[in-house]
Amino acid sequence: MKLHVEWTECEGHGMCVQHVPELVDLDDEGTLTLLREDFGEPEAAAVRSAVAACPKAALSIGE
Ligand code: SF4
Repeated sequence: MKLHVEWTECEGHGMCVQHVPELVDLDDEGTLTLLREDFGEPEAAAVRSAVAACPKAALSIGE
């Protein structure tokens, strides 16, 4: 599975980072970086939480 970021929607709120800090990181200026897009079943619950937490619905899960 892959985590997808809709960059035009992301406003750097950072809620996602709290759920999956190993996949996304936020710098001091509020710019999000996708550290790794691929994830497996063990991380799926945390990724779903990150997707649900994003106030801009900028995150989605793909194949
Ligand atoms: S929670 Fe959503 S808007 Fe905020 S940094 Fe993450 S992807 Fe971007």
